[in-house]
Amino acid sequence: MSKSEVAKIAASTIDIEGGAWVLRVPRFGEEGTHHHTYGLLTPYFKGLTQGQLLATRCVNPGCPISRGHGELWLPPRADCPDCHQPMTWSEIKDPRGYVYTYTYVERGGAGLEIPCPYYQIDVKIEGVGTIVKSYLQGPGPVKIGDKVKARFRTGAAATHTCLDLYWVAD
Ligand SMILES: [Zn+2]
Repeated sequence: MSKSEVAKIAASTIDIEGGAWVLRVPRFGEEGTHHHTYGLLTPYFKGLTQGQLLATRCVNPGCPISRGHGELWLPPRADCPDCHQPMTWSEIKDPRGYVYTYTYVERGGAGLEIPCPYYQIDVKIEGVGTIVKSYLQGPGPVKIGDKVKARFRTGAAATHTCLDLYWVAD
């Protein structure tokens, strides 16, 4: 693996391969290092570390489902599942939504970087066709329908994972 650029933040490092981020997290020591490429979804993870929430949509007029006016997907998909063409990126400005459903997590698995207990929440965002799974920062309690707004772990606090997006009460 050639490394054109390496950014070391927290315990993770990012290698950049042909424009794609390859995450390296030594969660369980060097022998337990997790390597994960973000491939074409790199803009999403890069956006989180910059305080931006990016989604994708299908704009292919020949698509049998979107007909060129697809809904936003979050988490994003690089290619449309219906026409298999590349989707386009859009930023969701000032992301706000409501708790569609939730789980109270008292005990997480090994390697989980969120302190327990916490609320894992599924968030419905106006104008987004999918529901994003994330977590709430705050003591709760939470109920379905609670309004939430997005926050990001940026700079030195970034993990370069989906944990860089979280939600607080709105
Ligand atoms: Zn499509």
